[in-house]
Amino acid sequence: MGKPTGFLEYLRELPLDRFALERIRDWNEFHLHLDEKKLREQGARCMDCGIPFCHKGCPLGNIIPDWNDFVYRGRWREAIERLHSTNNFPEFTGRVCPAPCEEACTLRINDDPVGIKSIEHAIIDKAWEEGWVTPQAPSHKTGKKVAVVGSGPAGLTAAGELAKLGHDVTVFEAFHAPGGVLIYGIPEFRLPKDIVQAEVDRLKEMGVKIEPNVIVGKTYTLPELRERYDAVFIAVGAGLPVFMQIPGENLKGVYSANESLTRVNLMGAWTPDSDTPILHGRRVVVVGGGMGDGPGAGAVAVTPSGRPARPGRLIRFSREPVEYTMAA
Ligand SMILES: Cc1cc2nc3c(=O)[nH]c(=O)nc-3n(C[C@H](O)[C@H](O)[C@H](O)COP(=O)(O)OP(=O)(O)OC[C@H]3O[C@@H](n4cnc5c(N)ncnc54)[C@H](O)[C@@H]3O)c2cc1C
Ligand code: SF4
Repeated sequence: MGKPTGFLEYLRELPLDRFALERIRDWNEFHLHLDEKKLREQGARCMDCGIPFCHKGCPLGNIIPDWNDFVYRGRWREAIERLHSTNNFPEFTGRVCPAPCEEACTLRINDDPVGIKSIEHAIIDKAWEEGWVTPQAPSHKTGKKVAVVGSGPAGLTAAGELAKLGHDVTVFEAFHAPGGVLIYGIPEFRLPKDIVQAEVDRLKEMGVKIEPNVIVGKTYTLPELRERYDAVFIAVGAGLPVFMQIPGENLKGVYSANESLTRVNLMGAWTPDSDTPILHGRRVVVVGGGMGDGPGAGAVAVTPSGRPARPGRLIRFSREPVEYTMAA
């Protein structure tokens, strides 16, 4: 386990974010890392519970106490090996996962939970820095061909696992770039696109072929794919927006979240010479306070449920110039 008395000695500490007034001037990532000494102290807080509830909280079943312990001991290489054993893309989850593991952490019963997410984030960033994240070649080829439809995290994960097993994998993506919501939904400042691209490149080095601008159902039909491939994995996500069916929805300057995010994140609508501009205004109304990924300066968010976003997200936005109005 980490340090047996670690949870008594060290308080939970999270890395600072870049100052809001600085980061609104660019789209760069704003989460920073703790220094190594502090990270090791945070790893030391883990109690290596007999029944680690963090496992149950993590949808991937990450073996969290093991890598907390490795970080405490400064054994970073083993930490990334254990983390990669259950998680293909810790650079994504370490940045944008809502961390239900921390909600589940036993320490949270009467104290602040272990800072699992920031430890995960630090492990994978160090692994990239050290050159430990490399393509994983299969020991043999099976001769089987698999088509993966959709290149979001589900499609990319399936492609990587299938390639590791020695199958010949082709990913078909409707957009011009792979990544799904990771690139068109989640903004650059939370998950930089070059980080997604690095994993796409790693898959390519493992032999995965990526075909963008292919809409399965139009460019190729599913029966066509079934003929050409031994198996087809469908990972098309849930990209269609839900409209409110109210007058004015078609007016200029009213965008669904998906349209607005796709234009901004994928098509560079923030630049004045963009082909797909969105109307820029000093005041923006956001209807629905769910993910809240992009209200921006001067936003006013209206939510019908009286329950905006996740509490953690709301606390963070409370430091931003966002005004929330709850419906009665
Ligand atoms: C704005 C937003 C922010 C989010 N933020 C977070 C977050 O911070 N943390 C978190 O954990 N989760 C977040 N999520 C949820 C998370 O992004 C999704 O759960 C995840 O992306 C689902 O992955 P997926 O691979 O199933 O689908 P997607 O990421 O949607 O990928 C599906 C891909 O399939 C492609 N496709 C669709 N139809 C076809 C077709 N016919 N032919 C070829 N390709 C096709 C799409 O273009 C897309 O690239 C967020 C979601 C949104 C919308
Ligand atoms: S539940 Fe918390 S304290 Fe227990 S093993 Fe998991 S991270 Fe460590």
